[in-house]
Amino acid sequence: MRALVIEKPGEYSVQSIPDPTPGPGEVVVEVAAVGICGTDIHIVEGEFPPTPYPIVPGHEFCGEIVDGPRSGEKVAVDPSLFCGACHYCRIGRGNLCERWGAIGDTVNGAMAEFVAVPAANCYPVPADLPAAHGALVEPLSCAVHGFDGLSRTLGAHYLIYGAGTMGLMMLQLAVTAGATSVSVVDLNTDRLQVARSLGADATATNADEFDRPHGWEVVIDCTGAIPAIEDGLTRVRRGGTYQQFGVAPGDATAAFSPFRIYNDEITVVGSMAVVHSFGRAVDLMCKGAIDADTMITHTFVLDQFSEALQAFRDGIGRKIQIAPRG
Ligand SMILES: [Zn+2]
Ligand SMILES: [Zn+2]
Repeated sequence: MRALVIEKPGEYSVQSIPDPTPGPGEVVVEVAAVGICGTDIHIVEGEFPPTPYPIVPGHEFCGEIVDGPRSGEKVAVDPSLFCGACHYCRIGRGNLCERWGAIGDTVNGAMAEFVAVPAANCYPVPADLPAAHGALVEPLSCAVHGFDGLSRTLGAHYLIYGAGTMGLMMLQLAVTAGATSVSVVDLNTDRLQVARSLGADATATNADEFDRPHGWEVVIDCTGAIPAIEDGLTRVRRGGTYQQFGVAPGDATAAFSPFRIYNDEITVVGSMAVVHSFGRAVDLMCKGAIDADTMITHTFVLDQFSEALQAFRDGIGRKIQIAPRG
């Protein structure tokens, strides 16, 4: 089969490699669509510590089972590989697993015609759900996990930093979750226009432009950018919640007022990847909670991987996908 192989950081090409053979409990999925996200960029650049090389990346995908008892099923695949035996797995928090792994991050993934995956990770999707939409389930399941960390969201006012793919997903989930209003901040005004079309009540390049002197009950950072994070922490209403959803560099630090956290009883929560949220993301995708067609702006074939990477790096559009079989 043909696959995008990252030989080592900075070095990749499309190669012919043997078709995957399913191990015990595994099936082979013929990949119809696979998304590119920031983690893939880090893997290409050698900045994702758990990744061994060479590796076939690709962890956001949808396709058809072509080998095994469930042959013919169209599935979205939860890439999570939790050990099941460590402290965190045993308390139901597998995304914090001490031996954390994921398809496309620590073992060969879906930037290929075929990929072998545990059958248990395969979630059936309706045959008429476009595969491109199915490949959005994984990022959506991260957003759903983010919502699991928020409480008392009905009727809340939300402030979201970042109108990229994840920020726009959080926006649409906030609307679904019964937000009274959602305000979105991004430096890119084109992105803000999309945010408004997807339900944002107010948008701005600087939160000072909004008129909410008491702040927001829920503030979510989807940028990982320190200036946004520091600003966001000051915008939380007394008794409200700040969520760190965006990925900041591992060695970055941000300033905040411990007195405010104490005195205003601010809750600060983090959200990392997927746990117990994939099935609900499938349901939400099928229900149309996310405007998938607006989210996906580019589709490339495997041979255009460099182009796809460049488009991602340039911040062009929103979700960029690869269709490995054209
Ligand atoms: Zn991802
Ligand atoms: Zn574990």
